[in-house]
Amino acid sequence: MKIIEDVFEFQQFINDAKAKHQSIGFVPTMGALHDGHLSLVKQSKSMAQTTILSVFVNPMQFGPNEDFNQYPRPFQNDVALAKQQGVDVLFQPSPMQMYPLGHSTFIDENNLSNVLCGQFRKGHFKGVLTVVFKLLSLTKPDYLFLGKKDAQQLRMIEHMVEDFNLDVQVIGCDIVREKNGLALSSRNAYLKEEQKAVAVQLSASLFKAKKAFDLGEKSSSVLLSIAKEHLQSFSLIDLQYLELRNWDDFQAPLQVTKKCVLALAAFVGKTRLIDNVMLEPR
Ligand code: AMP
Repeated sequence: MKIIEDVFEFQQFINDAKAKHQSIGFVPTMGALHDGHLSLVKQSKSMAQTTILSVFVNPMQFGPNEDFNQYPRPFQNDVALAKQQGVDVLFQPSPMQMYPLGHSTFIDENNLSNVLCGQFRKGHFKGVLTVVFKLLSLTKPDYLFLGKKDAQQLRMIEHMVEDFNLDVQVIGCDIVREKNGLALSSRNAYLKEEQKAVAVQLSASLFKAKKAFDLGEKSSSVLLSIAKEHLQSFSLIDLQYLELRNWDDFQAPLQVTKKCVLALAAFVGKTRLIDNVMLEPR
């Protein structure tokens, strides 16, 4: 596995791979790799000849009071995991490589970014779309692998790809969870044991609503109250939002008649966690 930090060296590698007509699968991450990230790598390995994994804790997508400085950076462990999975190139640029002095062009989405996480994390998706656009320009992948864990991010990147006619196939990959249902996240490392035990209730609330949906309940307000009521009994959970949105346009439907996402964000202690389930009428 090659580790590349320099943007020009990376572009050279990509040009060589393209000259050999190798298909490229790309998995962008912020590192602190876990089985969720590795499931994306596995999917890339099964579809593309070359798999590129980027590790970049993108300063632009963190707010001033967020966890950019504390964000875990266990780089040697990431290298070992990426190697084990057969990643071809681990691209780890520095912030200066990605945003050299004078960088002044950004991608600012104006619709899907106004709801869910976007209303609480101002500027977050501007940071996400800008860095993903840049990474796509550098990597020129055939396939882009993203987790459904970050559902709004996935939908917004799909939309950016449509808006800018980018020549890449976006593959949304299922959420990897612990046996007890907790969605894997690099931020779970912040949780103390008792917080981790209660964080499981986030997915439990979503699963409860999904079960009601699978049994025939289609009313958004009923489905939302099932999940909300479940969470109310856990005082360590501070719910930021719990919402049901159409998958395609993020409008809030009264009834689930087409694919929807039931998504939440909550603080457990100081740690902000997100999770979601898809509701898909048959
Ligand atoms: P991050 O490093 O948190 O920015 O995540 C990098 C990519 O991994 C994103 O596309 C995430 O949606 C995806 N991802 C993170 N956690 C999971 C998970 N538990 N299951 C599947 N994909 C995930």
